[in-house]
Amino acid sequence: MMPFPFDLHHLGGETTVTGSCHLITLPNKISIMVDCGLPANHDKASALSEMPVKASEIDYLFITHAHIDHIGRIPDLIEAGFDGEIICTFATRELLQPMLEDGLSFSDRSEKDKKRIQDRIDELAWGFEYNETFDLKHGVIFKLGNAGHILGSCFIRFEFPDKTNGPFSVIFSGDLGNVDTPILPDPDMPDACDLLILESTYGDRNHRDRSRRTQDLGGILETALSDQGKVFIPAFALGRIQELLYEIDRLKSMGTVDPAFPVFIDSPLGLEITAIYSKMTEFWDQEARDLLRKGDHPFDFRNLYAVENHQHHQKLIDMPGPCIIIAGSGMLTGGRMVAHLEKNLDDSRNDLLFVGYQAQGTPGRTILENAGKKNAHVSLNGREIPIKARIHSMTGYSAHADQAGLLRFVASVPGKPGNIKLVHGERNARMALKCLLEDTGYSVLNTFHG
Ligand SMILES: [Zn+2]
Repeated sequence: MMPFPFDLHHLGGETTVTGSCHLITLPNKISIMVDCGLPANHDKASALSEMPVKASEIDYLFITHAHIDHIGRIPDLIEAGFDGEIICTFATRELLQPMLEDGLSFSDRSEKDKKRIQDRIDELAWGFEYNETFDLKHGVIFKLGNAGHILGSCFIRFEFPDKTNGPFSVIFSGDLGNVDTPILPDPDMPDACDLLILESTYGDRNHRDRSRRTQDLGGILETALSDQGKVFIPAFALGRIQELLYEIDRLKSMGTVDPAFPVFIDSPLGLEITAIYSKMTEFWDQEARDLLRKGDHPFDFRNLYAVENHQHHQKLIDMPGPCIIIAGSGMLTGGRMVAHLEKNLDDSRNDLLFVGYQAQGTPGRTILENAGKKNAHVSLNGREIPIKARIHSMTGYSAHADQAGLLRFVASVPGKPGNIKLVHGERNARMALKCLLEDTGYSVLNTFHG
């Protein structure tokens, strides 16, 4: 096996799906970090103080996309002395500020410190084009490819000069999207590489296809709204809300959902992100651009309402149905959706529709597991609330490539990657994908020793 001309350290997101943070250190003292994400409570990640180099010695921080599990620890890195360049796509650069501002609102730093960190990130961050080659120090080059996961998401290809063995190339997949995702173009085809560091979130399963999913959503909304109830959809602010708006716009245009039904986006962050999605049409796929050209804005339709301030949110909680309310957080661990459900979950005319993964220990998971049981209830804001609303769960609304998508991405690497290292997946997902890849003749690394 060809030796790697650098050391690779996984500081988070190696064997779990959150807290992504990888560090490459080269003998000539260049250090490159890829993502600096926040782990969820139950996931492990090394403290930044345990890094093999000081934060001040890291030359570049590459960001694959603006989800908090890939960027959430940037403030800590800045405070630890990081002073290098932050490199990402133009869209990710736009999304960094609102996402980090929201993340920082949960920290106990002073307002002055928060402002200082945000200003510093703004100074250090640079947006780059997809599919162009750029130079770093010491002859290292990089290129960003569209990962099709959320707006601005990329995979990164580095090429490191090596006098003895010739250049060595590495691709970090970041989070890869599905083909045929609303709004976004399909992931780009990668170039050849000696090492592929591949996410494996859904390494052991496949999603329902998009047309079936849209039909399912239409069916649920139609029946739900026929009894004048309220339909609650907890959703992540970045990616999921925009996908939902797009699908509801389609359903309303096709007449599957009555255009008269009001839809409320009760999420200031979700609204801010949607405005960025709306503005950056150069990142949309052809279908979305065609709709816009025909005069149908894919994130806007009749009876769509933005709920910005808290007073309006309070009014909406008591407002009678029928309506659709989309708010965070996706797993009901906080956010405005919790207040809605505290008041409305015990009404059998209402519907609660999960469109994302519900992790163990979250109120979302408790509701899913207890729905339909006698005297089922869930604790929200410290109160026990009976679960009387109808509960639905739609799998397939995932911004992550499924098993088939991951295999397709690997197969599209010209001439096979020299080695593949699987990261960002639970054990079962990684093992299933490893077996399939090895069966088709790929070399998959178990552990990585420099
Ligand atoms: Zn992501």
